[in-house]
Amino acid sequence: MSQSPHMSLADAIAAGVNDNSANDANERLRASIGKVVCVGRNYAAHAEELGNEVPKAPILFMKPASSVVSIRQGVVRPNPALYGETHYEAELCVQLAADLSAATIEEAKQAVGGVTLGLDLTLRELQAELKEKGHPWERAKCFDGACVLGDWLDPQVFGDFTDIHYQLTINDALKQDGDSALMLFPVYELLVNISHAFSLQAGDVIMTGTPSGVGALQAGDQLSLKLGAHEWQAEVK
Ligand code: ZN
Repeated sequence: MSQSPHMSLADAIAAGVNDNSANDANERLRASIGKVVCVGRNYAAHAEELGNEVPKAPILFMKPASSVVSIRQGVVRPNPALYGETHYEAELCVQLAADLSAATIEEAKQAVGGVTLGLDLTLRELQAELKEKGHPWERAKCFDGACVLGDWLDPQVFGDFTDIHYQLTINDALKQDGDSALMLFPVYELLVNISHAFSLQAGDVIMTGTPSGVGALQAGDQLSLKLGAHEWQAEVK
């Protein structure tokens, strides 16, 4: 048995995925991604469920490109005996097709190149321990496979991103029901805000925060992410 989340992902890919189209999709996905910027507590109801205050400015953290996998690869949960619970966080994600530095709203609108849903996987017990000590969260948020992404869709279909509805169901039960209208910081405002903190580059991904309903993944869970007419399914390994 492996001793790290890194190896459990590699093992799972080596052992379980014989679907070449899934592997190709994954390689293309990884090759196109720079950094992944994540937004914490962008929905009031989720801030409340974790006992956190609603923030006055977006809370930002990052995941490395090495954490990104296609949902077509399945979802790999690090060994719970070693790492505790892995929580799902379904999130609306955008990928940039242009660089943004200290951007305006207009520049942000022009820069979005793709839209999809993703799962910000989080080792929740480890994160709680790190938070308690005042330490950074990377150990809980950046493991290989911690950023699960669907296929990129044309942003034109989604208008101005202010009314996008999306859902996560697990074993046919609705767990998360997201609506971008409920974001504390809407998509373009987020891009402007982030680009004033540091430069965003073409290829970067922004995970825009999770609605309420987060919880632990179990082996064998059947996940379904739905965005408009699109649906992605995966089994938890
Ligand atoms: Zn998140």
